[in-house]
Amino acid sequence: MKVVVIGSGTMGPGIAQTFAQVGHEATLVDIDEKALKKGMEVVGNNLRFFVEAGILTASEAEQTRNRINSSTELSRSVSSVDLIVEAVPENLQLKKSIFSRIEADSSEETILASNTSSLSLTEIASATKNPSRVIGTHYLNPPHLVRIVEVVLGKETSPEIAAKMTGILKECGKKPVLVKDVPGFVHNRLICALMREAMYMASNEIASVEAIDTIVKEAFGPRFPLTGIFGLEDNVGLDVLRDVSNQVFPSLDDSDRAGEWLTEKVDRGDLGAKTGRGFYEWPEGSALKTRQQLTQRFVDILKSAKQS
Ligand code: NAD
Repeated sequence: MKVVVIGSGTMGPGIAQTFAQVGHEATLVDIDEKALKKGMEVVGNNLRFFVEAGILTASEAEQTRNRINSSTELSRSVSSVDLIVEAVPENLQLKKSIFSRIEADSSEETILASNTSSLSLTEIASATKNPSRVIGTHYLNPPHLVRIVEVVLGKETSPEIAAKMTGILKECGKKPVLVKDVPGFVHNRLICALMREAMYMASNEIASVEAIDTIVKEAFGPRFPLTGIFGLEDNVGLDVLRDVSNQVFPSLDDSDRAGEWLTEKVDRGDLGAKTGRGFYEWPEGSALKTRQQLTQRFVDILKSAKQS
């Protein structure tokens, strides 16, 4: 299969790599030569890391690398490919113009996918004459490590395209989940719901940031990988869930925008690990350590999936 990934920024290189790892030819396209060079370096580093971690052999890594090309010529790159994944910045007009162009330049059978994380897929697809072959593939960052891909169905996405895309992602070792085209899809809606309440409690001094995270890590952490959220509640009992819901829901935060507590932090430049302070202090080196620990978790998951 031939795949084009448009956009060689944070997401594109890792997405291209996932296709090349299972034998597909991938072309990374960007308007910026420097972004392409950096993207290819990122792929090289990812692959070296995968060899060190025991996920790929040196020869598998080399073959993967050889299956990825880069180009600044969009029209020519997409003319005879099976799948195009768009990963350019989150700007509706830009994405619409790209979809209109790639529809015109590709064959009628090509699947047109967008990695949008917050825009309406239906809106993006409206730039095409045939929106039935437009689908969302919301990879999470880093895309070569995280197995979940939310497969977003626009209003017009055909079931055949959804089935094909799901099959392709499974072949790449991913765990595709079908979701409808609503703001935030599923992953970000859940994070938002949890964060809204967590910020409400911390800002109203119901519990400290550290205390809330301790509960998340010690109570949810061990359970969720086994049960998920619905499985957990099935074990608690739906009668209990109903009673607790009736008791607690009326007091939950229902703000329709970011509150003062968060906005003030952002205005002060306290943006989290990248500026050294967010909800926590991040002394030099600590963010890197956390990223390495997280990477190791994902590597362990990939290795155990490979063995099973
Ligand atoms: P990015 O800004 O890091 O990279 C985008 C790349 O697209 C840049 O290299 C840019 O030069 C290129 N580009 C811009 N216009 C182009 C054009 N007309 N043709 C070809 N290339 C063009 O963006 P990103 O963070 O990789 O995000 C890409 C998409 O993935 C967005 O829709 C974003 O919402 C989504 N996403 C991002 C993350 C994340 O953590 N960064 C996670 C999930 C989904």
